[in-house]
Amino acid sequence: MSSESHRFDVGSYECIAISDGTFSYPQPTQNVFINFFVNAPEDRLRRVLRDYDVVPEQWREYVSPYICLVISDGRDHVLVDTGAGTIAPTTGRLIPNLESEGVSPEDIDTVILTHGHPDHIGGTVDDSGRPAFPNARYVMWKGEWDFWTSEPDLSGLGIDDHGKEILVKVATNALHPISDRLELIEREVEVTPGVRAISAPGHTPGHIAVSVVSDGAQLLHISDTALHPVHLEQPDWCSSVAFDSEEVTASRLRLFGKAASEKALVMATHFPFPGLGYVVESGEGWKWRPI
Ligand SMILES: [Zn+2]
Repeated sequence: MSSESHRFDVGSYECIAISDGTFSYPQPTQNVFINFFVNAPEDRLRRVLRDYDVVPEQWREYVSPYICLVISDGRDHVLVDTGAGTIAPTTGRLIPNLESEGVSPEDIDTVILTHGHPDHIGGTVDDSGRPAFPNARYVMWKGEWDFWTSEPDLSGLGIDDHGKEILVKVATNALHPISDRLELIEREVEVTPGVRAISAPGHTPGHIAVSVVSDGAQLLHISDTALHPVHLEQPDWCSSVAFDSEEVTASRLRLFGKAASEKALVMATHFPFPGLGYVVESGEGWKWRPI
């Protein structure tokens, strides 16, 4: 398995987990590892992180994968999220990695944007500000689009003003150029046959997951419903960028329960590449079992 792309099948669909690169969240500006779990009781957090070989004081950076998904029936191509674009020297690998797999930007028929954060929409436009996938329609939850395109209220987020400015700037630059090729959804609909948008709010107001069902097989792409496998064990531990922590927890309970009971293959944008595995019941929560 390459660290840039990973092919797998879901029933009759051919899928590719494609890396857009990684992003390093360094010290000392913030302790991002802890920022993933801002409301966790400290002693309990230390105990849980020990299982992941993390000692908060010794931790210097957290390198997060940014992973996109391609779903194809052999003719049409659906892309889920567009990566971070040029936000960092280590991101923006999506298109070269797609081309290495024989998929050109022109081949993408549908782009599903799970939410409006920079690491999911940053690659929506090219260097000149034009849509990077010129033949695609772009699908997004209506509430998410409305939020990011009308002076979003980010006062509840636990990040500094500079971080908030980046969120708004990237959303403005990436979303307006696709407004003429946009399909906004307000219900859990099939975007293309077998590919369904699943409402999973909390991380952002209109964050969605994506399910792919074919020939009895199922993939559930949870996007940022969980940012780290610890969130499966502790579904009420939220990150500093969570828009509504109670909704985050409710969406996790719903999606993790569905994934476990239906034994679905699960994909998560920021889990170790290729971000694929299974959610298995463990005590009162769940655990991540990577493929
Ligand atoms: Zn993300």
